[in-house]
Amino acid sequence: MTALLWLRRDLRLHDLPALLAAHQSGGDVLPVFVADPALLVSSGPVRRSYLLAALAAVRESYDGALVMRVGRPETEIPALVSEVGAGSVHVSRESTPYGRRRDRRVEHALGEVPLVATGSPYAVGPGLVRKAGGEPYQVFTPFSRAWREHGWHSPAPVPARLMWHRTVESAPLPWDEDPATAVVPIGEAAARARWDEFLEEDLADYDRDRDRPDLDATSQMSVHLKYGTIHPRTMLADIAAHPAGRSEGARRFVAELCWREFYADVLWHRPDSAWADLREDLRGMAYEDPAGAAATPVRAWQEGRTGYPFVDAGMRQLLTEGWMHNRVRMVVASFLVKDLHVWWPHGARYFLRHLRDGDIASNNHGWQWVAGTGTDAAPYFRVFNPVTQGERYDPDGGYVRRYVPELDHIPGVAVHQPWRVPGGLDQGYPERIVDHASERAEALGRYEAARATR
Ligand code: FAD
Repeated sequence: MTALLWLRRDLRLHDLPALLAAHQSGGDVLPVFVADPALLVSSGPVRRSYLLAALAAVRESYDGALVMRVGRPETEIPALVSEVGAGSVHVSRESTPYGRRRDRRVEHALGEVPLVATGSPYAVGPGLVRKAGGEPYQVFTPFSRAWREHGWHSPAPVPARLMWHRTVESAPLPWDEDPATAVVPIGEAAARARWDEFLEEDLADYDRDRDRPDLDATSQMSVHLKYGTIHPRTMLADIAAHPAGRSEGARRFVAELCWREFYADVLWHRPDSAWADLREDLRGMAYEDPAGAAATPVRAWQEGRTGYPFVDAGMRQLLTEGWMHNRVRMVVASFLVKDLHVWWPHGARYFLRHLRDGDIASNNHGWQWVAGTGTDAAPYFRVFNPVTQGERYDPDGGYVRRYVPELDHIPGVAVHQPWRVPGGLDQGYPERIVDHASERAEALGRYEAARATR
């Protein structure tokens, strides 16, 4: 009997337990991707372009057998099951709030035909790492210890003698790839190539250089993890087998992969944390309205015209590349929340529209971490200073000059304070839209007021 393999964010052939399970059910395998209008609207043109390119790559690796459908999965999947008389539908387990609701709807619509979840986009499935009493972890460090102790399976093999089902026509997808938005190659081969390059060139020194946006020293694997063109378990196995696998760089890199798993775990236990403050005592904070009084400064932030070079370089990197370095993500997020006093979901939504790696768990909890409203012990009163952060992590100013051409006449670290350089603002770079020291004091005042009312 035919088994359906319903791909979602696992667009690869290797290390895909759901494919193995579909094959082991005994017949041929019909791989399908359903373009769900509910997700397409929120994903934005950048991610739609990467998705299309990743789908083209996986289709090729499946010898052209992947079929596309457009519509609601609870309609499309059962229709396909009836069309081919499939006996089961195989997926990787989903952990986002929307994905879980959707899968329940599909399961219900399938009736007798089972929806079989095998594996997940994580080394350890969200919800599996728990304290001795069964409660979830709320703080990263103990979670990461328990996550390592829990361990993970070895990568799954590609099934031998795999048979693809080929009687079904594919539907055209209702959007085009925009090559301008897809600036890095995607697909399983591209993921492998980038990963091998990072392992050889940057893993050993990752701990030293990872905070320097001017050095391009991070893996840039986030887009591949987003679409599942590589599985994190494959990456962990490669690290363990690598000569630099015991280096401080490797240890730190594994910890970063673990942050991704931690945030997925938090979202699993608290689906409401996608769009609401986890810390209840800060739910009464006073914020500015980004559609009202704060509209002009928010637009300046979005377009990279705040007058703070490190912030503006980051926001322009986001718009040109669909990606931003982690250090700079923290600084620009802090600027929106604590200098412009705008509630973090507004920034999170903007990021999700423009990031190629836009992922609700990592993004929205990354925002909550910066805002100080999340599960972690991150204190609200940590306010990133956009000038000193720039001077420290972009010490020669090369990152700023790469994205802000109006400042390329200012050499060295002075680029982080162009208002102090004679003629520094002469090439059209804007004045600062706010004074950081006063806004920091304002943010702390609002924080104290919110806590006092609890
Ligand atoms: P590397 O430094 O090479 O790290 C390797 C991998 O570890 C990353 O690809 C990622 O999967 C994971 N990782 C690293 N840091 C983090 C982290 N802080 N949280 C979770 N996972 C991490 N990451 C996303 O994948 N999607 C997002 O939408 C996203 N939004 C963010 C928003 C904010 C406000 C902040 C502060 C962080 C966000 N991050 C997000 C986390 C992090 O910035 C990116 O994963 C990282 O910059 C991706 O680049 P890289 O692959 O070169 O990372």
